[in-house]
Amino acid sequence: MTKPQNASGGCLCGNVRYRTDGPLYDLHYCHCRTCQKASGAPAIAGAFLSRDALHFIDGEPKVFRSSPIVERGFCGDCGTYLLYRPLIEEWSDWLIITIASLDNPENYAPKRHYGIESQIPWFDIRDNFPRERYEDGFIDILAKGSQEERKAILDRFGQN
Ligand SMILES: [Zn+2]
Ligand SMILES: [Zn+2]
Repeated sequence: MTKPQNASGGCLCGNVRYRTDGPLYDLHYCHCRTCQKASGAPAIAGAFLSRDALHFIDGEPKVFRSSPIVERGFCGDCGTYLLYRPLIEEWSDWLIITIASLDNPENYAPKRHYGIESQIPWFDIRDNFPRERYEDGFIDILAKGSQEERKAILDRFGQN
């Protein structure tokens, strides 16, 4: 099924609005603890997007640096979690937007689970999509590890 190339979305109060003009890919759930905390939900649904394909029409998200290598954008007025943006050079060409903040989330069904080691036990997953774990400490390794250690992690996550 082809996905609409142009999507739009925004936050709950409407002060931040965006549109996209590139494909959304690797639609996924993330169960990691940071996504749970950022959203107040058991998991988020996210879509990868080329960084230059995201355009804010109204407002700008506020940014919170949630780890040494990632910042997250949310509406400064209503708090809706909107995007995940890596800060390391190797990942500087993409970001993730939250599928539930899109105007038509029904068109973007996730097909993978990330961060499955943090799945909340009562959050019952009834699909057979691939389930990926995050390696312990991978954020610290990307932030402070040796070149070889960083490369091993980047190679593993670089298949988006
Ligand atoms: Zn808002
Ligand atoms: Zn996550």
